Amino acid sequence: MSICAIVGVNWGDEGKGRMVDLLAQQYDIVVRYQGGSNAGHTVINQYGKFALNLMPSGIFRPEVVNILGNGTVIDLEHLCGEIDGLQAAGIEVSPDRLKISNRAIIVFPFHKEQDGLEEARLKDARYGSTKRGIAPVYSDKYQKKGIQLGDLLLPDLFEKRLKALLEWKNLTLTGVYGAKAHSFQQTMDWVERFGSRLKPYICDTGKYLYEAQGQGRSILFEAQLGALRDLELGIYPFTSSSAPLAAYAPLGAGVPGLRVERVVGVVKAYSTCVGEGPFVAEWQGGEAERLREAGGEYGAATGRPRRVGPFDLVATRYGVRLQGATDIALTKMDVLSYMDRIPVCTAYRLAGGQVTEEFPFTPLMDGAEPVIEYLPGWKQDISKARSFAALPKEAQDYVRYIEARLDCPVTYVSVGPGRDEIIYR
Ligand code: GDP
Repeated sequence: MSICAIVGVNWGDEGKGRMVDLLAQQYDIVVRYQGGSNAGHTVINQYGKFALNLMPSGIFRPEVVNILGNGTVIDLEHLCGEIDGLQAAGIEVSPDRLKISNRAIIVFPFHKEQDGLEEARLKDARYGSTKRGIAPVYSDKYQKKGIQLGDLLLPDLFEKRLKALLEWKNLTLTGVYGAKAHSFQQTMDWVERFGSRLKPYICDTGKYLYEAQGQGRSILFEAQLGALRDLELGIYPFTSSSAPLAAYAPLGAGVPGLRVERVVGVVKAYSTCVGEGPFVAEWQGGEAERLREAGGEYGAATGRPRRVGPFDLVATRYGVRLQGATDIALTKMDVLSYMDRIPVCTAYRLAGGQVTEEFPFTPLMDGAEPVIEYLPGWKQDISKARSFAALPKEAQDYVRYIEARLDCPVTYVSVGPGRDEIIYR
């Protein structure tokens, strides 16, 4: 399958980066098509341990070309920092190996500031933003105020657009939040420092991809976040401001006519959620602590403790549907090894008492409770298993149960964070 997307089925943090790092060897090009530096894709391989925020996870494969598509938003400073970190670890990042769309939108320091100011203003009603400027910059994009990376190559136009953007943005920063205005010079200094370094990477990536697929080169799309954070169909307003769905990949990459043939939905063997919003199966107290510790569930981008709970069939079935997943990569199976029995949320009992297996409209999840079923645990280390047959029967049964209930085959079972800690089925 030469056009594939690796996407998150749940709230994010399912282990997409780990799967892209693994599967990138079969592809010529890896493309991030949405989001910005709010992603945190953890990759562990022979070079070390990395938390990639913007950089596509194919960067560790020397033969792979990595692309940041037009659907992404790019903090120039942050990307330069990531390039430096990778180069310090011996990974070559050059314009041959990384291409940035001239249509991607720039995240400026004032976007990050606005993000933080708005979260502070909201207090207890905050969204749980990563404060990387994502909501403000996508809002600007849709208001047609954004500045594209390609504008950096046209200095006169760039300065004109930046002046206009600052004039408008400072009205919000000073008027709404009582913050200091950002000066043109201060912002230009930042652009000179980081933007000039990135200029050689900027090109028409849509054209590049269109021609590449015409030549039969294979493409792997890498999503950020998960289906439930999709702006249109997720748990709005507790979503991200972009579209992490596989269906958006061709558009966010600049090749809208491309058909994604294979969609690998990454699903964690239990549930986690960073940030606010409904999370019906959430655990509290000691049970949650134990799972959080066992799974190391602290955000890669922010270090925040993740909310945790059992596998949620209701949410996951919805996520599989949104993603149009053709198969599933089930990650972190090894983390469940400590449990005597494995809990699974099979339905939600809504506040009015109605029990449903359908993922509800967001506000209807207020006060909902999970209906839990238990499967037998396996109570042994499975991290060394490299074939399905080598898994204990209870672990095999858990995988079979999940694929039957999701009506989607589980083709990868991940039993550890390392590149090779995987079972192919
Ligand atoms: P992503 O944003 O979807 O790439 O996921 P994150 O990187 O935020 O979170 C996944 C975390 O789980 C990372 O720390 C990975 O190293 C780790 N991980 C991935 N797969 C496995 C697995 O099968 N077992 C264990 N124990 N850890 C895993």
